[in-house]
Amino acid sequence: MAGKDYYEVLGVPRNAAKDQIKDAYRNLALQFHPDRNKSPDAEARFKEISEAYAVLSDDDKRKEYDAGGREGVYQKYSQEDLFRGTDFGDIFRGMGGFGFDDIFSQFFGGGGRQPTRGEDLTFHLQVNLEDLAEDTNKEIEIPRSEVCSTCNGSGAKPGTAPQRCGTCGGTGQVQKVQSAGFARLVRITACSRCHGRGYLVDTPCKECRGRGTVEKTRRIRIMIPAGAEDGQTLRLRGEGNAGEAGVPPGDLYVVVNVAPHRLFARQDSDIYLETRIGAIQAMLGTELTVPTLYGNVKLEIPHGTQPGHVFPIKGKGLPKYGGWGKGDQYVKVNVEIPKNLNGQQRELLKQLGDLR
Ligand SMILES: [Zn+2]
Ligand SMILES: [Zn+2]
Repeated sequence: MAGKDYYEVLGVPRNAAKDQIKDAYRNLALQFHPDRNKSPDAEARFKEISEAYAVLSDDDKRKEYDAGGREGVYQKYSQEDLFRGTDFGDIFRGMGGFGFDDIFSQFFGGGGRQPTRGEDLTFHLQVNLEDLAEDTNKEIEIPRSEVCSTCNGSGAKPGTAPQRCGTCGGTGQVQKVQSAGFARLVRITACSRCHGRGYLVDTPCKECRGRGTVEKTRRIRIMIPAGAEDGQTLRLRGEGNAGEAGVPPGDLYVVVNVAPHRLFARQDSDIYLETRIGAIQAMLGTELTVPTLYGNVKLEIPHGTQPGHVFPIKGKGLPKYGGWGKGDQYVKVNVEIPKNLNGQQRELLKQLGDLR
C-alpha cells in the first residue's frame, strides 16, 4: 500500500510535537469516524489517518518512518502491530461510546481481540564483515511453537473427533449488537467457550495436551544479502510462532548485527585500514602487501610519502546494498620514526642531513 506521507495525511509539519499530532488526529477523527461520516470513502480515510497517528505517536515507529518511510515501517511491523500499543482511548472517549476495539475489528475483520495469526519472533544474528562481501547463507536455530503433527493442530487425540461448539455454532465468533445514540454497531468477538476455535475437545491430544501446538527448535537457512547494514532487519514470512486454532503462523524477523573487525573499519560500503611503514620506506618508496575482504593485494607506496597519507584501492569495499558495484578500500599509511639508532646509522643520517 503505497500512500501519502503520514505528516501530510495529518497536516502537521515534520517536527510536530506529540500534542500537535494528537490534536490534528482528533480533529480529523471527528470528521471521518465511520460512525459519524457516512460518505463511502470515510472509512478508508479514517483508517489512513489512524495509521498515520499510530506511527507518529510512537517514538520508535516514528523514528523508523523518518528513516525509511512506509516501506521501512511495513518491513518492521505487521499491519496489526502498527496499531498495537497505540492509546486511542482518550481520543475516542465521548464519540458515541465506541472504543478502538470496534474500529480495529472493522479494519482487520473478524473477531476483535482474537489473534489473526501467530506471534512474530525476533532473532539477532551476528555476522562478520567478511560475511557481507557476498550473499551469505547462514543457519540459525529458532525455538518456536509449531503445529502439533500428532493431531494436526486440532488438539484432539487422534481417533477422536472434536465436537462443534454449540455456543458459536462452530464459527468461533459471537456477535453482539451494541447501540449507541443514532448508530447500531454489530460487534464480533471470539467465542469465550471455545476460545475462538469453533470446536471443543473432549479427549486432548497427549503430545500437545490439547493446545494444538508444540515447542520445537528449528534450523532455518537464511540468506544475508551482500553489503547489509548493521541493524538491518530481514523478514521471513511464516517462520514465526504457529497460531492457535489454525490461523497462519507469525513472521520471523532476523536483525543483522555486524561484529567489529580487528583490522577494518566500515563506513557505508567503504572499508578503512591503517598500516605503518618505516621512515626510510616512506622516503624511498616501497611495495606493501595489504589485506582486503577479498584477500591480499599489492599496494605501491611512492617515494616521498607523507605520514597519514591515504591510498584508495578501487572496488575492494563492500557491495553496495540495493545498488550496483562495490565501495572502495582506503589505506592510511602511518610512518614510524626509528627510536634507537646505533652510532653508524646516526652517522649516515648526519651525512644525509649535511647533503640537504
Ligand atoms: Zn496435538
Ligand atoms: Zn464457540
